[in-house]
Amino acid sequence: MKQEQGQDESSKLRRVKELAADAVCVIVAIGDGMRADVNALIQRDPVYRKHEKTEAKTALSDEWIRNACLFHLLEEKDALAQSRIFDYDRLWQWIRFKNYFIICNNTDGLFSYSLADRKKTVMPFGTPWLLQCEENCTDTVTEAGALLTDFYERLKQRPEIDAADLPRCPHCGKPLRFNIRRGPGDKLYCENGYLKDWISYRNWMQTTMHQKTLLLELGESFEAPGVVRFPFERMAYLNENAFLVRVNERFYQYGPELQNKAMGIAKDPAVFLSELLGGKATNDNGNRL
Ligand SMILES: [Zn+2]
Repeated sequence: MKQEQGQDESSKLRRVKELAADAVCVIVAIGDGMRADVNALIQRDPVYRKHEKTEAKTALSDEWIRNACLFHLLEEKDALAQSRIFDYDRLWQWIRFKNYFIICNNTDGLFSYSLADRKKTVMPFGTPWLLQCEENCTDTVTEAGALLTDFYERLKQRPEIDAADLPRCPHCGKPLRFNIRRGPGDKLYCENGYLKDWISYRNWMQTTMHQKTLLLELGESFEAPGVVRFPFERMAYLNENAFLVRVNERFYQYGPELQNKAMGIAKDPAVFLSELLGGKATNDNGNRL
């Protein structure tokens, strides 16, 4: 593994800004390293604090309690949650006049509240804001918002919840689960939550051929390297005008074949993003963000 040597942090930030300014196409991958501290967020909600120690909780009921409280906080524009969403907004402001696409593998649900165009976003690992049947009986997903709001009201009113309170599939009666991939062996994960967007992404990829392209990878682990890490390396290698910026606290390395085609930044990607965009107080129209 060979890395660029001797570049201090500020020169790397400057280089990333130059690459972005020069690029025609920008692909941003938001990985699990960008995950917000959801525990700290939901602790701010009194309804969550009331229920967190309930002993009869199952994994699924715990998930419903956490997501219902997180949904409530996000809908209420909780200040702490907004700070991360604001960073995503600034990321979008930064690339929106480019030919861009965003892959979000971070399933904490916060990115969905950003201003980024949904038609230029794909979430292959799912989102807590979609539901599917535990058995995936119809291979479809539904919006979670209304059921999460109802569930939150129930949490407010009752000291405890039980299995009967968990929403069920209207087709087969099995519990509904959140449309988030539970690891590589999750055969019941409903892929129809994202496949249409994946096709858009693949079609969009064709437009980047031979174009000046910046691949910005923020916190992609080795959970599913075939989704972002390996394809990004391949694109950086095959497209003579592409450049990969890999931001990761631990896994920022890349292979020797990408020498002069990639840069590794050993940093918390959320901190990097704030620093990258922090100095930019106005957008391209001169308005304050
Ligand atoms: Zn079902």
